[in-house]
Amino acid sequence: MRVLGIETSCDETGVALYDSEQGLLGHALFSQVDLHADYGGVVPELASRDHVRKLLPLVRRVMQQTGTRPGDLDGVAYTAGPGLIGALMVGACAGRALAYGWNLPAVAVHHMEGHLLAPMLEENPPGFPFVALLVSGGHTQLVDVCGLGEYRLLGESLDDAAGEAFDKAAKMLDLDYPGGPRLAALAEKGDPRRFTFPRPMTDRPGLDFSFSGLKTYTLNTVRDHVLEDGLPDPQTCADIAAAFQEAVVDTLVIKCRRAIRATGRKTLVVAGGVSANRLLRERLEARLAQEGAGVYYPRHEFCTDNGAMIAYAGCLRLKGGQRENLDITVRPRWPLTELAES
Ligand code: ATP
Ligand code: MG
Ligand code: FE
Repeated sequence: MRVLGIETSCDETGVALYDSEQGLLGHALFSQVDLHADYGGVVPELASRDHVRKLLPLVRRVMQQTGTRPGDLDGVAYTAGPGLIGALMVGACAGRALAYGWNLPAVAVHHMEGHLLAPMLEENPPGFPFVALLVSGGHTQLVDVCGLGEYRLLGESLDDAAGEAFDKAAKMLDLDYPGGPRLAALAEKGDPRRFTFPRPMTDRPGLDFSFSGLKTYTLNTVRDHVLEDGLPDPQTCADIAAAFQEAVVDTLVIKCRRAIRATGRKTLVVAGGVSANRLLRERLEARLAQEGAGVYYPRHEFCTDNGAMIAYAGCLRLKGGQRENLDITVRPRWPLTELAES
């Protein structure tokens, strides 16, 4: 079974071809980072327009590079939510129309299910059941995953997502958008012991998160050390970045360990943009090994948004019999737990 996957939920146009026998055949990504950089964040209308420009050329490229003709396909999968409505509409309209024109089934994919399954594209993939930590720009969730579509929410952020907190802290340190990876790079040069930032909500039971207090703490620390140019000296910036990263990672690790203990699962899957974070991976591996649990994540480029995870999730959903009718429906807000296996 061969599926074309289309991702346009935010600021990345992603296209991929997944084959259930041969694995990932090809993928292409266009990131709109430069387009939004001047604005310090994603401008929804610009995102939609750029998806319109980039999507079909990317589809053509992936089809050509893999020598695939429409007749070789078994379905077209597209992200139907959650995400920016205009951006989602571009991928959904194109995906639905391509499927119609090629006389193929169309499959609407949940973006976070895509993230959650992305580690299964790797060699030595994790098997069900597992606990998933979804840490992205819009989500921080711990999910107990029994199988495809069988998701039980264990905990989530009550305010900012981890990636969002990374991006906002980065802005305070005058790092360009998208700040998360830049803050992580700066943290490598910092001394994580100079400042100790709070580990929100770790001193009470439960698996929910909150990152807005940590954000305020970071802002206050920056303000306490500003020089005339409006920023702390470079070493202090790096030390703040290190303390911030340390606090976020520590908080995530504590909750993951708790979730593994509470569920008795032996596998943790980490996905979404923040799963690219080196310190998070190191710490999770070390701490969960002590619990006898293994940690799995996607390859670096599939931590953030991509078409491969949508093609893969679409393929599993298609195998399960899912088919869309001719309506084009997107859901900017769409809880993962509302996904029933079809
Ligand atoms: P969602 O998937 O929730 O809809 P999104 O698609 O915007 O949100 P992703 O593309 O999965 O999110 O991830 C982007 C986020 O990951 C950004 O907030 C970015 O700062 C963060 N991120 C990427 N790399 C790193 C890193 N190395 N360390 C920390 N954060 C990172
Ligand atoms: Mg993005
Ligand atoms: Fe995402």
